[in-house]
Amino acid sequence: MNENLLISLQHAAEQNIEDIEQAKAAGRSVIGFYCLYSPTELAIAANAIPLSLCGTKNDPIGAAEQFLPRNLCPLIKSSFGFAVTDTCPFFRFSDIIVGDTTCDGKKKMFELLSRYKPVHVLQLPHNQDLGQALPFWLEELHRFKGIIERQTSCFISDDRLTSAIRLMNRVRLARTALMDVNRAVPAPLRGSQLLEILFKIGFLADKEQAIALMQDAAEAAANGAFLPAGGKPSRRRRILLTGVPVGIGSDKVVRIVEQCGADVVALENCSGYKKAFTVDETIDPMTALARQYLTTPCSVMSPNQGRMELIQRMLDDFSIDGVIDLTWQACHTYNIEAFLINELVQKERGISALHLETDYAASDTEQLRVRIEAYLEML
Ligand code: SF4
Ligand code: SF4
Repeated sequence: MNENLLISLQHAAEQNIEDIEQAKAAGRSVIGFYCLYSPTELAIAANAIPLSLCGTKNDPIGAAEQFLPRNLCPLIKSSFGFAVTDTCPFFRFSDIIVGDTTCDGKKKMFELLSRYKPVHVLQLPHNQDLGQALPFWLEELHRFKGIIERQTSCFISDDRLTSAIRLMNRVRLARTALMDVNRAVPAPLRGSQLLEILFKIGFLADKEQAIALMQDAAEAAANGAFLPAGGKPSRRRRILLTGVPVGIGSDKVVRIVEQCGADVVALENCSGYKKAFTVDETIDPMTALARQYLTTPCSVMSPNQGRMELIQRMLDDFSIDGVIDLTWQACHTYNIEAFLINELVQKERGISALHLETDYAASDTEQLRVRIEAYLEML
């Protein structure tokens, strides 16, 4: 990893905690988010700080299992575990929590989470095409806007919201430009490097700083700064990772792929390209947010044609050799959708696909390695 950027990222992460503490002391609200469907623009427009709270570490899962069933998605258990162990500064900072009715596990977990913080759950429609879905979601976002206005004592005018949309569009464009560096063959960034940069920058409250860091990283990567010292880029097999979100701590599959001599060059999940959108800046801002966020192609939607289209595009844009479809244990929606992904990738596109189901623990690392090695040999 490029040393200078690593130092800047580390410094920014440490400063970020101090900045949020000071902002809270000065009266700014912090809103904790659990899902891509809730627009962070509404928090930014009210001068609040939005923070992502999805758990990506195995450590707090044992504590969560004292309250939640063991046979539950590790992302949900990790998120809840951070709350009960009080070990996540971002959860501690959050004045209120916003969740969405995405999957059954998450929405029931929010009921228990409300014992620790005020939790507001947005009722998300599960079909994007029905005529009533968009008006319903728009109404939910208006309810969310009221919650934030009450929390922050700040009226969210259309002008404030449009400015927040512009800012977040610039953040998303910078993220997309960074991810797009890997359209080049060979890929300038390893999947683990890309993930680390996106993950750490994602927590920064200062969005202008986040944009600048991502632009620097994209430029450095395009100039070969992330290649092994003195080494020439080699053409390694190019893997698209699709499925559940991953982050630092839940990235074992990305690392095993690299250790086996291939690269995850692109992430389709909501840690990656699912976030690569822009919100329309020319229409009523609440309608623009409702329209755009409702189209998020997550498996909690039925049907979820948007994910098929996104994968098709990414197969071409990133010159993909193989697809790994990752499901967290007990995630029924991604697990069932794996059948359709396999059909699309293998039968329609003639590209080999591997479906993996695992959790955050290290216990199956060697089993995964055997399966991934065998799969990569076939490519
Ligand atoms: S995978 Fe779907 S439900 Fe889970 S955080 Fe991402 S968008 Fe939300
Ligand atoms: S990975 Fe699946 S089960 Fe876990 S929170 Fe996301 S949609 Fe729910």
